[in-house]
Amino acid sequence: MRNIAIILIIALAAFVLLGMANSNRRVLSGWRGPVGAGEASVANAAAAPAQALVGVAQPQGRGFDAALVPSGNPLRAAHTVITQGYGVGTHAPASVWGAIDLALDSDGDGKADPEGTWNQPVYATHAGRVTLTRESWPAGNHIWVTNEQYRTGYAHLAGFAVSDGQWVNPGDLIGYIGSTGMSSGPHLDYQVWVWRDGRWVNQNPLDYIQRMGE
Ligand SMILES: [Zn+2]
Repeated sequence: MRNIAIILIIALAAFVLLGMANSNRRVLSGWRGPVGAGEASVANAAAAPAQALVGVAQPQGRGFDAALVPSGNPLRAAHTVITQGYGVGTHAPASVWGAIDLALDSDGDGKADPEGTWNQPVYATHAGRVTLTRESWPAGNHIWVTNEQYRTGYAHLAGFAVSDGQWVNPGDLIGYIGSTGMSSGPHLDYQVWVWRDGRWVNQNPLDYIQRMGE
C-alpha cells in the first residue's frame, strides 16, 4: 500500500514536470515565431526592386539563367542620382573606363547628398564570384563580381561585406559606399562588362539598370 502511494507521487511529479517542460516549449516557439517572420520581412525589403531605376533581366533562350545577367540598380534606392554619366569625364574612353557614378539624393532636391550617401549599402546586381582589391588606384576598395558571361565592378567602397572568392547572388549585400581611391566624394562607380569574342567588352550600365517599358 505504501509502495503504491510512492509510485503515485512519483507519477504525479513526472506528470507535472512534463507539463512544465511542454509549456516552456510553447513559450519558446511563440517567441521564435515573430523573430523568424521579422527576418523574412527584412530580407524581402532588401530584395525589393528600386522604384526609380528598375532593371529586368533579359531572357536569352533555352536554359538561360537570368541571375547571371546584371539587372537593376546596385544601390536599390529610389532616390539614386547619376553624378557622372557613361563615357564622359573620367569615364572616357568608354571602352576602358566606361562606368556610371551613382549617389543618393536623400532630401529629394535632385542633387547628390554626401551625408546620405556615405556607407550606404551596395548590392550585387547578378550572380558571380567576388574578387576584392583593397586600396587600389584609381578604384580604391574595389569589387569585381564575375561569372562566365558578365562582370560588374563596384569602386571607391568604404568597406566590404563579402570575402574574396565568395559566390554572391543578385541582391546580396557586398559593400558600402565610400570615397576611396581617385574620388572627390562618396559615390559608387559601377561598371558592366560582357564576355564577347574572347574578351571583356564594356557596356553602358544604364542599359542594364533601366529597361523601360518591359
Ligand atoms: Zn566613376
